Amino acid sequence: MDTALADRLASVDARIVDAARDAGRDPAEITRIVVTKFHPASLITDLYALGVRDIGENRQQELTAKHRELGALEGLRWHFIGQAQTNKARAVRAAADVVHSVDRPRIADALDAAGDGAVLDVLLQVNLTDDPGRGGVVPAEAEALAAHVASLGTLRLRGVMAVAPLDEEPAPAFARLRACADEVRRVVPDATWISAGMTGDFPEAVAMGATHLRIGSAITGPRPARD
Ligand SMILES: *Cc1c(COP(=O)(O)O)cnc(C)c1O
Repeated sequence: MDTALADRLASVDARIVDAARDAGRDPAEITRIVVTKFHPASLITDLYALGVRDIGENRQQELTAKHRELGALEGLRWHFIGQAQTNKARAVRAAADVVHSVDRPRIADALDAAGDGAVLDVLLQVNLTDDPGRGGVVPAEAEALAAHVASLGTLRLRGVMAVAPLDEEPAPAFARLRACADEVRRVVPDATWISAGMTGDFPEAVAMGATHLRIGSAITGPRPARD
């Protein structure tokens, strides 16, 4: 077993506890997802042995391959955090327990149609930048998208997700996400999840109220080059 991995995981978890205490929050209400993209499936096995149960992947093919290899690990939850394509909805549904990246009605419809009767947990990805080309629904349209998702029988809207913009302090961006989460909750009162916070900004996300952190390199070490 990789002791450096265990050390990095423990140190991130200690920082999450500190950030929660500073914010007057109970650390137990925060789910730490380990983002393993570009790393081999064996890293997930190592993390599983360390007690990790929530894994994030951002590419459908990689999610599918790793899920096929490791899907039998009991209690492992797969979070799909990448751009979702409508023609891959079936594959995403087959592997993911939670999809964080619903950002338009068509992908919601495709995920719903690809269902086999089970209910899929989904989050609305919100675009916090002013670049409409970035993934995510613009905040002004989040409420309408929430209403659409709520009308689909096999999707359960759990909340919102976002990535902080690169060219801005994370705190004000996360404050906009928080406001958006409140609007979505007016449509779906139990959509209480807020997925935000990565290696560089998870303490700020905890301070804003994030319930799900998506942390990669601080735990896994540097990612191998993309293929
Ligand atoms: C890669 C990725 C993360 C984790 O990034 P780190 O900076 O390595 O913690 C979180 N969220 C999304 C959507 C990602 O693609």
